[in-house]
Amino acid sequence: MPPLALRPFGPGTWVAEAVNAEPARANAGAVVPSLVVLAGDGVLVVDPGPHLRWGRRLLAAIRRLTPLPVRWVVNTHAHPEHVLGNAAFAALRPRPVFVASPQTAALMRARCAACLDHLRALLGAGTLAGTGIVLPAPALRDGTRFATGAIDWRVRVFADAHSPSDTVLYAPASGLLCAGGLATRQRVPDLREGSLAGWQAALRELLGWEVRRVAGAGVGTPAQTLAPTLAYLDALEADIARAWRSGGDAADAARAVPGDGFRHWRGVSPRHALNVQRAWLELEDRYLREAPPG
Ligand SMILES: [Zn+2]
Repeated sequence: MPPLALRPFGPGTWVAEAVNAEPARANAGAVVPSLVVLAGDGVLVVDPGPHLRWGRRLLAAIRRLTPLPVRWVVNTHAHPEHVLGNAAFAALRPRPVFVASPQTAALMRARCAACLDHLRALLGAGTLAGTGIVLPAPALRDGTRFATGAIDWRVRVFADAHSPSDTVLYAPASGLLCAGGLATRQRVPDLREGSLAGWQAALRELLGWEVRRVAGAGVGTPAQTLAPTLAYLDALEADIARAWRSGGDAADAARAVPGDGFRHWRGVSPRHALNVQRAWLELEDRYLREAPPG
């Protein structure tokens, strides 16, 4: 497998070149900028990508950087394009430690088989060939530390934000934040499995931290990733609130909330309309509880 391109992203840190889009046959699922960190006597990989082939190309690229073993593989959340690349690292000896939050580990155990089938149908059997399921240990608990060599990561686990469980790793010494699916860049975020309120709260918290670089579904500074992702979600809430107050309903939500201001982002169609539907139901539920009719 030819190595994929790794872009330097600060001292001892690289991100894989990936397509800024959702998984599709045209991009072979190569949409996750997997993070590679040289951590003392070993290598940390965060979100090793969508399948065995990508994982092997990532491993080949790591081999060109360093002979040190891959010791740790982190799965930030249970979306298949982020985790099925585990398969490429499971055969290594010594075997790396695979870790995730308890909720992510449980979700992967429950549904990775179905997610693998789904991704195979989406991307093609050839692309997913040989990809097996490698489950992480439920070792990353909210509020704890995770040591990789000399790097002491703070672990924060957000329930119901971008997904049912989103793990964030933060290295205070370098200001590096591994944000998983919480941060996008110039791409409409995917709320399909998330909570608007939970995601907004997570991003508001992260924006209060001393972060210099963010590696997630989008890569860059906080101002390029965390802040615009939050701006999109805040605009979604404000526009839905306005439409709700003027008597709109879920059936014409997409027309009432066109997403002006974000039409130039990638993935607007169909993702924005789907986000509106999802967020509308969440907000309608909240409005009805706060001010029951009659
Ligand atoms: Zn995701």
